[in-house]
Amino acid sequence: MSKQVIIFIAPPGAGKGTQAELIAKKFGLEHIETSNLGEVKINDPELVKKDPEVAEAKRRYNMGELFPPPWIVKLIVEKIRELASVGRGIVFSGSPRTLYEAENEMPELEKLYGKENIKIFYIKLSENESIRRNSSRRICEKSRHPIPGFPQYRDLVICPEDGSPIITRTLDKPEIIRERYRVFLKDTKPVLDFLKKNDYDAITIEGEQPIGKVQEDIMKHL
Ligand SMILES: [Zn+2]
Repeated sequence: MSKQVIIFIAPPGAGKGTQAELIAKKFGLEHIETSNLGEVKINDPELVKKDPEVAEAKRRYNMGELFPPPWIVKLIVEKIRELASVGRGIVFSGSPRTLYEAENEMPELEKLYGKENIKIFYIKLSENESIRRNSSRRICEKSRHPIPGFPQYRDLVICPEDGSPIITRTLDKPEIIRERYRVFLKDTKPVLDFLKKNDYDAITIEGEQPIGKVQEDIMKHL
């Protein structure tokens, strides 16, 4: 199991980060979070000073723009090589999110881990359910405690732990989620079609069931 690569592809709200984390813990795999890879680099002042690429990535990040795609791919490929060299398996929940990433990362993964050891899980979720799940999620203002969208929390206005007001993140507003779902269909869904066309083992999981059941369905294939 250690030389396995697992890739989660899913629209916002399908819980792919949670599932990836559970699988990584269960099998001792490394969970690669793409945004973390970039953030670690731009928060290293030495690196920003001596590497113009890192400085440029930091400038964009501070402007609220995306990291440059070739730079992110380079960081991911570096990470893949590092983990492969120590025989460690990987779980991805944020990449490949575009065809560009898929075309540049998959050959590397295939070369180092073997196609037969790569599994893709597509967690299916409708646009309506994606919006419902995301927009019912709230957090507290002070400590960012997550308040799930369950009926028993619906009337809660003050955080039970620190007494601060409960708010909806901008990222979780319905119009923003609709846009994120559209970006998923336009940029990330083609990655799944690309992988299927290239004979990767891609399994569809029904995302509109409780987290535990989703987890069970994934486990049947591992
Ligand atoms: Zn709180």
